[in-house]
Amino acid sequence: MAPEHETFLAEAAALLGPRGLTRDADLVTPWLTDWRGRYTGAALALASPATTVEVADLVKLCARHGVPIVPQGGNSSMSGGATPDQSGRAILLSLRRMAVIDPVDASARQVTCEAGVVLQNLHTAAETAGLRFPLTLGGKGSATIGGLISTNAGGTQVLRHGVMRALVLGIEAVLPDGSIYSALTPLKKDNRGFDLKQLFIGAEGTLGIVTKATLKLVPAITDRAVAWVGLPSIHAARALLLHCETFAGNLLEGFEVMPRACLDAVLDYLPEARNPLSGPHAWHALIELAADAESAANLQDRAEALLTGAFERGLAEDAVLAANETQAEAFWTLRDSVSPAERAKGPAMQHDISVPVAAMADFVATAVPAIEAEFPGTEALGFGHLGDGNIHFHVLAPTGVIRGEWEEGQGKAISARVHDLVTAANGSISAEHGIGQMKRDELARLGDPVALALLRQVKTALDPKGLMNPGKLLALRPHTP
Ligand SMILES: Cc1cc2nc3c(=O)[nH]c(=O)nc-3n(C[C@H](O)[C@H](O)[C@H](O)COP(=O)(O)OP(=O)(O)OC[C@H]3O[C@@H](n4cnc5c(N)ncnc54)[C@H](O)[C@@H]3O)c2cc1C
Repeated sequence: MAPEHETFLAEAAALLGPRGLTRDADLVTPWLTDWRGRYTGAALALASPATTVEVADLVKLCARHGVPIVPQGGNSSMSGGATPDQSGRAILLSLRRMAVIDPVDASARQVTCEAGVVLQNLHTAAETAGLRFPLTLGGKGSATIGGLISTNAGGTQVLRHGVMRALVLGIEAVLPDGSIYSALTPLKKDNRGFDLKQLFIGAEGTLGIVTKATLKLVPAITDRAVAWVGLPSIHAARALLLHCETFAGNLLEGFEVMPRACLDAVLDYLPEARNPLSGPHAWHALIELAADAESAANLQDRAEALLTGAFERGLAEDAVLAANETQAEAFWTLRDSVSPAERAKGPAMQHDISVPVAAMADFVATAVPAIEAEFPGTEALGFGHLGDGNIHFHVLAPTGVIRGEWEEGQGKAISARVHDLVTAANGSISAEHGIGQMKRDELARLGDPVALALLRQVKTALDPKGLMNPGKLLALRPHTP
């Protein structure tokens, strides 16, 4: 090891103590590969500070020694955002030890917590106080508040409550020079210039380290109705969504879709899972209506009327309303298991894309056959948040390919083609997973040059040494095709 790294590590160890810094391969290695298993990096050490001041002191030390920092929460990133490169020069900075949740302020309907709090634990804390944190996603058992903020995560309740940005009231962050930016106290009105906390939401750890946040809570759900609907086409799903929006208004909490192949993959993956409907359907929708003490009652009746209306208009082929909470959870488990089930099927290229909501059905209906025709043997699938105009567009590899080789060759060509189609449809190549390292070059290739120049200027202003999560989101030098 280079002598300057030895000095740095000795100083970091003195700063953080034995629980705060490790080079033990058994402890570090599991965090060096991303959730999808696509990227594996190397790191000088794993740092796990316990307080904001420790984070700040460590960042100052890194700045002094020129050591790059890769912030990491639950490592559930879908774009390789929390995985260091292979140089071994960076330090992996885990926030997982910083997991304190302050007492919930029920009257203000807000809570302040540290960045390493796991989403599921925040759900529990809010529920215990009779409230709810209205953002959830399949990775809720590992995703942390810092990661959710840094990726501006979405999930399955965006339709009603918005993305993470809409739920962040205040932020504390350590800047690349080690100073602490504290804006935790939420003010409904504050016009003292730029809303600086927004800089850290969706920044993917490239501008600083989120250490704490104050988050918005909403009233707890008192009743919910969850339905599983069989549909003939993605266009029928879009028509059903419009019907639900008209009929249920603000009670509509979630509207997720998946094609038959996704449901089949989940049923193979989860031996105990059952298809909620008896017959086969080309598409499936999962609909949730939710009421709190302040909104309408008789939710089950309203959901039944909604489904009756859908049948009368010829929008649905079949449907079932969950008879109880266990069944409702079973429906959501089918939805939440699509990503792991698809991962188990073998190599695939994943695209987390958005186009205008009204254009999504046409996009899926044309892009799926176009990709399958252009790349014979592949299987293209679009599933997810139709109500947000956000589909996870996955392209499964032909059987028998060697994963790494396929991803680097045909896989890359497929992604470029999908992203070209998305860009032509005025969409985004990253709706909710961030750019990370996976889509960095594609953003450079397809992004608006003015927007890219602005991103670079902000990055350079805050992080002139380029030490914060290097190689993620932006290529530091302008992209040359
Ligand atoms: C099964 C499954 C389903 C998922 N479904 C969804 C979904 O529906 N919607 C969705 O949006 N995402 C989804 N995800 C992706 C993932 O859960 C989110 O991106 C989540 O926000 C990542 O949180 P994390 O704590 O794991 O962050 P990590 O993966 O550790 O990091 C993500 C990024 O944030 C940075 N970062 C992490 N913590 C901090 C911090 N404190 N300060 C600064 N930067 C930081 C990292 O450097 C990295 O760039 C899913 C993941 C899985 C595994």
